[in-house]
Formats: sequence, C-alpha cells, structure tokens
Amino acid sequence: MATHDVDILIIGAGPAGLYGSYYAGFRGMSVALMDSLEEPGGQITAMYPEKAIFDVGGFSSIKGRDLINNLLTQAKPSNPKFLLNQTATTLKQNADKSLTITSEKETVNAKAVIITGGIGRFTPRPLPAADGWSGKGLVHFVPKMSDHAGKDVVIVGGGDSAFDWANELHPIAKSVTLIHRRDKFRAHQATVDQVKALGIELITEAEVTKVSGSSHIEKIEYMNSKTKETKELNCQTLVAALGFTANIGPLAEWGLNIESRKIVVDSGMHTNIERLFAAGDISTYPGKVALISVGFGEAATAVNNATVAINPEAHLFPGHSSGSVE
Ligand SMILES: Cc1cc2nc3c(=O)[nH]c(=O)nc-3n(C[C@H](O)[C@H](O)[C@H](O)COP(=O)(O)OP(=O)(O)OC[C@H]3O[C@@H](n4cnc5c(N)ncnc54)[C@H](O)[C@@H]3O)c2cc1C
Repeated sequence: MATHDVDILIIGAGPAGLYGSYYAGFRGMSVALMDSLEEPGGQITAMYPEKAIFDVGGFSSIKGRDLINNLLTQAKPSNPKFLLNQTATTLKQNADKSLTITSEKETVNAKAVIITGGIGRFTPRPLPAADGWSGKGLVHFVPKMSDHAGKDVVIVGGGDSAFDWANELHPIAKSVTLIHRRDKFRAHQATVDQVKALGIELITEAEVTKVSGSSHIEKIEYMNSKTKETKELNCQTLVAALGFTANIGPLAEWGLNIESRKIVVDSGMHTNIERLFAAGDISTYPGKVALISVGFGEAATAVNNATVAINPEAHLFPGHSSGSVE
C-alpha cells in the first residue's frame, strides 16, 4: 500500500476538483486528486462527455469532454498526483491537525483535505434481464461513441442520456433502437423530436425480457407490456440508460455535518472538521446552486482557506493570476 504526503488532497476529480487542483498549484501547494472512477471528469466524463454545455463562463458552448480536457491542461502545471479507481474510505485527524485518508489501495497524509465528491460514487440502475452481461456488450454509459461503430445498438431508457446517445450513435452504428417502458419520455422534447426525425426506431411500452449470446451479447428479446407479445432484435451493444443511484458512501461516516446527502459548509467552505473543506455539488449552504461554474468559485475559495489553515501567515486572497497591472 503506497503512502503519499501532500499539502492538499482533493477527493473527487470532477470539474470542481480539477479546478481546485489548478488553484492549489497557483497557491504553491502540492496536490493529489483521488477518484473512484477510472477517468477524471466526474459526472461530465461519466454521463455527458459529448453534450454541449452552455452555461460555463467564457464559453458560449463547450462539449463536456473538451471542458474536462481544458481543466486537465490548466491543472498540469500544478502537477497533481492522480489517485484514480479508488474510493476515499477512512479519515483520521492527527495530533498536528493534518489528516490521513485511506482508500482500498493507498494512504494519503495531507495538511488539508477538500471534498469535491459531487453526488458521491454513482451506481447505474440495473436492467435485471441483462444481469451478468457487463463487459460482454452491456454498458450503462457511452463515454466514447466510436466503441460502438458498426454495431446494432439497443438503448433502454427514456431520459436525456438515452436520447442523446441515440442521436450521437445513429451516424456510426449499424442500427439504433430505443426501448422505453412508457409512451412518454423524460428527455427534452427537442432531443426526442431529433430522434424521431432521424427515423430511429422507438419501441414504447416495452421491456427487455431476455439477453442471449455466447461470449458476447448477440440478441435481445423485448415484450410489449400490454399485448405481452415478444420480439427479438439483433444487438451487440445494449445500453441500459436507466439513470443511477448516488451514494456518498464512506464520507457519511466521517462525522461531517450532513444534510440531505450534502456536506454543510460556511462561506469559507469549511466543514465542521478542522482542515476539512467541501466544494462543488457535494457542499451545501443557504442559497446553494449546483452548477459547474459555482463549483469553480467554491473550489478556489476552499483552496484559499485551506492555504490559510495550513499556514496562518498566508494571505487569504492571493491576488490575481494575471499579476499586478502598473
Ligand atoms: C446529464 C447532466 C447534464 C448536466 N448539464 C449541466 C450543465 O449544462 N451545466 C452545469 O453547470 N451543470 C450541469 N450538470 C451538473 C454538473 O455536471 C455538476 O454540477 C458537476 O459535475 C459537479 O461537479 P463536482 O466536481 O462538484 O462533482 P462531480 O462531477 O459529481 O464529481 C465528483 C467526483 O467525486 C468522486 N467521488 C465521490 N465520492 C468519492 C470518494 N469517497 N472517493 C473518491 N472519489 C469520490 C466521483 O467518482 C466523481 O468523479 C449536468 C449533470 C448531468 C447529470
């Protein structure tokens, strides 16, 4: 089990955590980023990398993936240590006020910790008929469209992700079929209209009842919930876009002040535990709005307050990155 010593450990490599890692370097702090996922980018990488985002300052429109790549480029000079595919599990406060965090793989000793854990570790809602087909054609997210080029893709779900992926896979997949158990969709009407205009087959009031194949999915069977009639479809990629359940998991056991699965912070992003801060979607205070752009500001505030907690002689406000203008 490796041990790392850093000034600031950031738990969660979503947009808030990535921006926080840039800012930690700007304040001269060494920084590590830990995340349960295999790739940085949080909800954006996992759920909507191909989606255009319109409300991030400075970009009239930016694709999720490009925003994360820009954040990684911006963070690079801070040389963050990425500790991916591991979950922050335990917290110990040491006599000198530093904090020791362990995951299932590593130990990190940090002078301060910032939790940017978003909605927590998220787990996709299962598609019972496809149980056991993970890694053999069943996916819950489509972070990379090209993985499914030339395939018969069946998407199950009626939300934005299901419809976005149908639209985006249509030009490269052999076929795209969307199956939903209702005849109404949660997705935005404009996206639904786009799917219809492309002629993508929409099968409503139906459920996937069976998945078959040898080492990989080859066919799925679905049943009309009214007539009980069953039909088969060729399928090599089955996308279960049924949403996810989020769980802040081990963080809930750390003695933090938690309200509705969010960590209560003050205006300096301090939690109730000394030298432990929270920012981004996981933090809450009166008037909180969970937006990427808000998370950026909170991450900067958390890093500046963490810097003062580590070194009480440091200035809270470090000046502007552009330096002084004479
Ligand atoms: C479909 C969709 C569209 C959206 N569109 C927009 C939009 O247009 N504009 C906008 O502003 N916002 C949008 N959002 C919301 C936006 O994505 C979130 O506000 C943003 O991702 C929050 O960033 P974050 O860094 O706080 O957390 P997250 O992005 O949730 O990242 C948190 C990370 O922490 C990790 N983590 C959690 N617990 C642990 C632990 N114990 N150990 C290790 N790692 C942990 C998770 O794996 C995750 O990677 C959208 C969200 C969705 C789902």
